[in-house]
This record gives sequence, structure tokens and C-alpha cells, in this order.
Amino acid sequence: MTLDIQNIRGEFPVLHQEVNGKPLIYLDNAATTQKPSAVLEALSAYYTQDNSNIHRGAHTLADRATRSYEKTRAMVREFLNAKEEEEIIFTKGTTEGINLVAATYGRKFLQEGDEIIISTLEHHSNIVPWQLLCEEKGAILRVIPINDQGELLMEEYDKMLSSKTKIVSVVHASNALGTINPVREIIEKAHKVGAKVLLDGAQSSAHLDIDVQALDCDFFVMSAHKLYGPTGLGILYGKREILEAMPPYQGGGEMIKEVTFEKTTFNDIPFKFEAGTPNIADVIAFQKALEFINAIGKPAIRAHEEELMAYAEEKLAQIKGFIPVGTADQKVSVISFLINGMHPFDIGMMLDANGIAVRTGHHCTQPLMGRFNIEGTVRASFSVYNTKEEVDRLCESISKIAKLKNK
Ligand code: PMP
Repeated sequence: MTLDIQNIRGEFPVLHQEVNGKPLIYLDNAATTQKPSAVLEALSAYYTQDNSNIHRGAHTLADRATRSYEKTRAMVREFLNAKEEEEIIFTKGTTEGINLVAATYGRKFLQEGDEIIISTLEHHSNIVPWQLLCEEKGAILRVIPINDQGELLMEEYDKMLSSKTKIVSVVHASNALGTINPVREIIEKAHKVGAKVLLDGAQSSAHLDIDVQALDCDFFVMSAHKLYGPTGLGILYGKREILEAMPPYQGGGEMIKEVTFEKTTFNDIPFKFEAGTPNIADVIAFQKALEFINAIGKPAIRAHEEELMAYAEEKLAQIKGFIPVGTADQKVSVISFLINGMHPFDIGMMLDANGIAVRTGHHCTQPLMGRFNIEGTVRASFSVYNTKEEVDRLCESISKIAKLKNK
């Protein structure tokens, strides 16, 4: 299926502007995607028509808001192919989802000497929560190394696994390099030694079909803002029996069954993990983002992005001084690169002067950058609304920048 990209672009008001006198080319989609009008309208509609607190009001507005909030949960269940809606928990984002698991599952089930395995490709949000837990528990953090292409060394992973391994927490697709990890194999092997597996789906969820039952992961986390949805909203999926065994994360309203000064009993999942008034408006508006994705379909989104990637990679490879960082066989639509002898920030500024938005720096993956002995990269990341003409302008600009250095 060929997508009507101009039609799709028409749904994104932010794309139709000039930046520094040039038409905006937004290639920072791995940081956050733009939002279609339907999402923006849903936010406004909620506040103008239905605004009220959920789950406890006896009135019509509260009832409407509650139903709509829970409708999103049903849609997310379907999006991830989770078995039950109760396995879907709304969080602030990927970061909070990982912190929740570390602080609840980790604190309850880990002991001194236990091991947690992560990988060299991790975002800081899948490193620091585990370090904090290890410090508290006397547990040990182990890190799967990578090759020069940015792929996991699976034989090293095999060697790390043992009965001491309690948690394996790895990124499904790297935000810094784009590498797609062999997560099925990772999960299967972890389960053989009795470890639980968390997948950081912050990047993969926008590009790949996700089926948490087929993957058999124990936890899956993602952020709505990388899925054409609002900021401040994330999803934690967890298997029912594991979520039920975990203590609550935060205490407060909504997460209780009964409170006395002597003792509190907790609500059932998912509410046990949703203390306080949640991010109602953004949860409701997220439906429109999911509808946007579903209407096109992930396979069509991915096919379009792959076409852009192949086109860009071929053109960029011809530019003298262009150095790709991360050349894994399996990648989502991320191109990380350097230009010989130039600082990534300077490249980013020059691209911005041409209306091109990219990310520069360490991408919250400092240890990964350390592995390549660099401070950072320039990252261009594509989404469904990007075009070949935009790739042409990116390549032209990079070519000019590289020539400055080659002079
Ligand atoms: N993990 C990965 C792979 C990411 O790309 C990001 C966002 N850059 C995060 C985690 C953190 O997501 P958030 O900031 O939305 O919590």
C-alpha cells in the first residue's frame, strides 16, 4: 500500500510552518512525535465538555469522563494485545513505568547478591532505576556488551544468565542507534533461569507491531508522546499475576479499598497503581493517536519509514566525511551520525538554520556513547509524515556542512 503522505501531513498543523525562513523539516521523532489535529481537538473537547474527576462522581460529566478514560485502557489493551484490561496501567511515561517496577517488584523480590541484566544500549531511564535498586539491595547490575555495529553480543548474554538473574530489562529498539534487539530470544532465555523481563518499548511501539502475549514479556513500557499522543502519559503493561503480587507504588486516593488509621487495604489492579487524580485529559486524547496509528497500520508505517531510511542511508553514504554510528542489520528509522572532525552540536545548529530539526548529544545514553569513545552524535529520526523531498534536503544540507570541513 502506498500512503498518501500529503494527506497525512495535512493532519499535523505543526508541520506547516517556517523555521529560520525555511519550511520546517521535523526529524526529531525519536524524541517526540508531532500530534494530529484529532488529538488536539480531543484535548479541547474534554476540557470544554466533559471535564470532571473520574471513578467517583455520581454525575453525568464524571460518568462520561470515566467511561472515556476506561475506553483508552481497552484500546491500549488491544494495541499491545494484552490478555486483560487490568494489565494496563497509566503512568507518566516510560521512565515512570520502569521506576515503578524497580521500586515495587524490585524492592519486594530482590535480595543481596541477586543480579539484574541490562544492555549497553539502554537509555538512562533503564539504567538509573536499577542502579538505585542495586545500591539499596546489594544486588549486582550486569551489562550485555555490543559489537561495533551496535548489536548485542548474545553469547555474552548467555554467559551472564544464571539462577542469580532476577530481572532482565532491555530496550526493544535503541533510541540512539535504532538497533532492534532480538527480544524473543532474550525473553525465552531469561525465563529459562526464572528471571522476569521488562521491555523498554519507548521507541519500538511507534514502529513495530507489539504483541505482549506472543513476546511473553513480563512488563512492557512505553510513552504516549512518541506515539503521536500527548506528553505526560505512559503505559505500563504487566502480567496479571505479577502485578497482583507487587506492592503499591504510591499511596493516596483511588488506590485503596478501605482506609483506617490502623490499616489500609488496597484496590485491585490496575487502580492499585494509579494513586491520585490521573492525567485524565491526556489519557482520553490518546485514543485519537491510537486511532491515527490503527487507521494506517504499523506495517504500512514501517514500510514507509524503511523506504525513507534506505533512501537516506544510500545518499548519505556518498557524502565524504559522513560517519554513521550504529549500523545494525535490524533497525527502526533512526540514523545516528558524525561528520568528520565536527562537533554534533554545531552540525545541529547548522541544520536548524536550514529549518531541519534533529537531535544532537548523548541521547540520554552516555554509557553507549562511551562504548564508541564519542560524546554524542547527530540523530535524524523519521516518522510516517516525513517525505523523500525532506530526506533530499537533509542530505543536501549535510553535504554542504561536510564540505565546509573538507575545505
Ligand atoms: N527509553 C527509550 C528507549 C527512550 O527513547 C526514551 C525517551 N527518549 C525513554 C526511555 C524515556 O521516555 P520518557 O522520557 O517518555 O519517559
